[in-house]
Amino acid sequence: MQFMDDDFLLSCKAARRLYHDYAAPEPILDFHSHLPVHEISGNRSFRNLAEVWLEGDHYKWRAMRANGIAERYCTGDAPPYEKYLAWARTVPFTLRNPLYHWTHLELKRYFGITELLNEASARRIWDEADDLLRSPDFGAQGMLERFQVRVVCTTDDPCDSLAEHESINSSALGFRVYPTFRPDRSLAVDRPESFNRWIARLEAASDIEIRGLQSLLDALKRRHDAFHAAGGRLSDHGLPYCFAQPCTQDEAATIFENARRGQAAAAEEYERFAAFLMLFFGRLDAEKAWTKQLHLGALRSVNTRRLGQLGPDTGFDSIGDWPQASAFCAYLDSLEREQALPRMIVYNVNPAENYVLATAAGNFQDGAAAGKIQFGSAWWFLDQKEAMEWQINALSNTGLLSRFIGMVTDSRSFMSFPRHEYFRRILCNLLGAEMERGELPQDERLVGGMVRNICFENARQFLRLELPEDSETAKLGMVKAANANGLKHDHGL
Ligand SMILES: [Zn+2]
Repeated sequence: MQFMDDDFLLSCKAARRLYHDYAAPEPILDFHSHLPVHEISGNRSFRNLAEVWLEGDHYKWRAMRANGIAERYCTGDAPPYEKYLAWARTVPFTLRNPLYHWTHLELKRYFGITELLNEASARRIWDEADDLLRSPDFGAQGMLERFQVRVVCTTDDPCDSLAEHESINSSALGFRVYPTFRPDRSLAVDRPESFNRWIARLEAASDIEIRGLQSLLDALKRRHDAFHAAGGRLSDHGLPYCFAQPCTQDEAATIFENARRGQAAAAEEYERFAAFLMLFFGRLDAEKAWTKQLHLGALRSVNTRRLGQLGPDTGFDSIGDWPQASAFCAYLDSLEREQALPRMIVYNVNPAENYVLATAAGNFQDGAAAGKIQFGSAWWFLDQKEAMEWQINALSNTGLLSRFIGMVTDSRSFMSFPRHEYFRRILCNLLGAEMERGELPQDERLVGGMVRNICFENARQFLRLELPEDSETAKLGMVKAANANGLKHDHGL
């Protein structure tokens, strides 16, 4: 078998049919990403492979450091080609790391390059990509259209402007870009200096003067309303674990006022304040029928020397091992008791907690929505073949895989859309192998229909985002694309 041919990761006939006939033609609904909205609205073009491929990619920086490459070539001031060359030298050492697959899948899908990247091929590949990057297809918008991306959700602070989302969505582009409400900085009463700078930004964004706790809540709600008006239907929180300690409004007000005066909250006060706000955010999402995302369990910025030099999100984070179960259940239970539990997606980064969180989600399912509490796709260090299979298996064994809303890129790079393909192949391989072993029926419409739903349709129904194909022109485009693939586009399965 050839490396990464058309049947890459598809080890049997049924898997290949599921992937090629059911998964591959589906469009992409990328409901969690970190793509910068101004690069989409401005249709950013990229000058070279270093710019489109290495900027901000802490996965690659970690591998380069582990390969003994100096920081100058990762985050430092080395010229773009030298950074790229340092990466090319590292690639052969990434065998069996998902980076090896992603790198070659990205070269193939974006540039049609099938040569393996290493020091010897680096120059040829750079030049070949360089030529292509000049064409309009390789601008930010062209890349989204080429990968059939119907929706991208960006990740945004409540203070961020939504003007660029609105301008994209009032255009005739074939995709929509919606903001996601991520208010992590509103919890930071333990760091009063940056917290108060952020409050000043929130005052400006909401046009509300923040005197005490109630006006903070009013300002946050006003921004939540603005996100809703811009088409946003998701929120997101990055937390080590859920905060669920009881905290009265008076207690929260005191902690807030102290932070406003420059007094840092102690750890226990921080957690109570965060618990108070997380309940408030849960209610906001429930009122508007949004979906709340929780990213749980990352241990961040542990290398203080590097944090001082390079700042956060530069590749010095790992998997935390806090207990998750009781705090997660207590948070959801508090909302459930008020009948204010929104739809949720919980993303887990610690594989030891897969069954813990998958079963915890099951406690709060109800008839309001199929798969109301989603055990989300394998995240970060788990975004690779083995751990995707673990996530799919944990969900299958304790819940309903059929109701899963599927994969996200969670990426800052326009080169990451083949991650969806990677996930889809792994999903089809698992299911196809079970069909061939007689563990699932040889009923392609049944299993293929589930695949199709997980790839796109479940997310479309669950998240309630407005899609461009709701317009007639885009519908025509879909039919054309489906015919070109020799398939009838039948969502009725
Ligand atoms: Zn993310």
